[in-house]
Amino acid sequence: MDSPDTDLRTPAPSAPAAAPARVRPSRSGKPQGQWKVDGPTPLNSNEEVKAAGNGLDVRRRIEETYAREGFDSIDGDDLHGRFRWWGLYTQRKPGIDGGRTAQLEPHELEDRYFMLRVRSDGALLPPRALRVLGSIATDFARGTADITDRQNVQYHWIGIEDVPEIWRRLDTVGLETTTACGDTPRGFLGSPVAGIAADEIIDPTPVIAEIKRRFIGDPELANLPRKFKTAITGHPSLDVAHEINDVSLVGVVHPELGPGYDLWVGGALSTTPRLAERLGAFVTEEQAADVWHGVIRIFRDYGFRRLRNKARLKFLLADWGTERFREVLETEYLGYALADGPAPAPATGPGDHVGVHPQKDGRSYIGAAPTVGRIGGDLLTRLADLVEEVGAEGVRLTAFQKLVVLGVPAERVEDAVAGLEGLGLRTRPGALRRSSMACTGLEFCKLAIVDTKDTAERTIDELETRLADVEDQLEAPISMHVNGCPNSCARIQTADIGLKGQIITTDEGEQVPGFQVHLGGSLGRHDLEVPQLGRTLRQHKVAATELGEYVERVVRRYVAGRDSGE
Ligand code: SF4
Repeated sequence: MDSPDTDLRTPAPSAPAAAPARVRPSRSGKPQGQWKVDGPTPLNSNEEVKAAGNGLDVRRRIEETYAREGFDSIDGDDLHGRFRWWGLYTQRKPGIDGGRTAQLEPHELEDRYFMLRVRSDGALLPPRALRVLGSIATDFARGTADITDRQNVQYHWIGIEDVPEIWRRLDTVGLETTTACGDTPRGFLGSPVAGIAADEIIDPTPVIAEIKRRFIGDPELANLPRKFKTAITGHPSLDVAHEINDVSLVGVVHPELGPGYDLWVGGALSTTPRLAERLGAFVTEEQAADVWHGVIRIFRDYGFRRLRNKARLKFLLADWGTERFREVLETEYLGYALADGPAPAPATGPGDHVGVHPQKDGRSYIGAAPTVGRIGGDLLTRLADLVEEVGAEGVRLTAFQKLVVLGVPAERVEDAVAGLEGLGLRTRPGALRRSSMACTGLEFCKLAIVDTKDTAERTIDELETRLADVEDQLEAPISMHVNGCPNSCARIQTADIGLKGQIITTDEGEQVPGFQVHLGGSLGRHDLEVPQLGRTLRQHKVAATELGEYVERVVRRYVAGRDSGE
């Protein structure tokens, strides 16, 4: 769940001088804002603001000035650009309906409160951290806290006056909001069962820790063309949606070199989705942080900056192709060649880790599903109590807006399951509740056209009744991803049923909130030749109020018409 940066204007580190002669200019002949090809002269207002200073510096201004003097003291470029470098976006003013989103100026949609993202990077959240996260929700965010599909915790209703105290509390448990948004290395997706799963190929914990230690908060990586997303896993369920990240390291076993990572680059969704591609390169644990650093610097130095909607790494990969990308990585950035390596096998399971599973140390981990990621401050605190009570270690967040309780002693598994269910965190959710996600939507997002989370919750409740008679025939989860606008923060194109928010016209000619439907997306299917992005069914537009009925029809048709094993 990741809002696009449409109104960004922001600051930066030193841009490298214009570049090696071996790099050819863009096909159009126009400068594309690639620093190493065209030089660092900014070609648009966003780049100008970024070139004027480093986005990371805004933290000092928040602490020393804005938090003391209040919302009205905030500089406009800081408010609409640089604040993102510390995970802060202004949220949508309440009461403006989605039909007016496109008609109003951004400032007319903007509230005086913020969304704030805390990155977890796949790390364990022990009870102390859960309590701190819960206290922030209760004390400063009107109780709100959502798990995002990038393993962040997202708050709403944050006042600028409270931000320094929030940072102070987060510091006490090693959590941060550094580059949680902005044109930066965003929060990492890390396998939620890293280091503990009995069937793990390689534990990515040391690699994630090294990349974070060396590079998060590095001013030299604080002015990228746009956001840069990372996913790292060593689990055979491929649990971090690696195909839709800018760079991914996926655990594989090399026949001679042993366990390590397969390198993928250039994935991203939004309105122009593109799945990541393998470079065919094997990365050892020792090489992984440097390889990550090489890929992100390629993006910084060669990424297209002229047009913001062409500024993701996927467009550079489309221009270069994988062979050239790998050659530039090896020759200009690493100074050595990577070994060729194998591809990961198709995913062994859904990767959400829902249910009870064995750990390699004899204990268990238990995945549970808060509906569409809503968790709240009170629940976070009660979850901390439960973790302590059953003698577990803590919680990790998943890439599917779910959570996993780790280190549950064998004799306490039933108590833990009962406790989670008592908190409304289902360990055996129905097929749709298990795999549904929703973005922020109309409640808080300035770009939203329709409501998402309430709509999804209501629809899931309704479908559990409507589909009760076929529930036992739904062996695999069915994913329903609800998005509030054409952007794809909740990954429309990767869901079985992807829903893109828009105003639709009913048969009676009435304009109502609804969704364009995409069907048939999935990730982790490397056994299939065709990329598994969902297809848009142009004729399928459904009013929000009729979503339950529509999804019921789709699911019943699937159950009746599927091939054996499908
Ligand atoms: Fe993203 Fe949803 Fe906001 Fe659209 S409405 S920008 S999909 S969070």
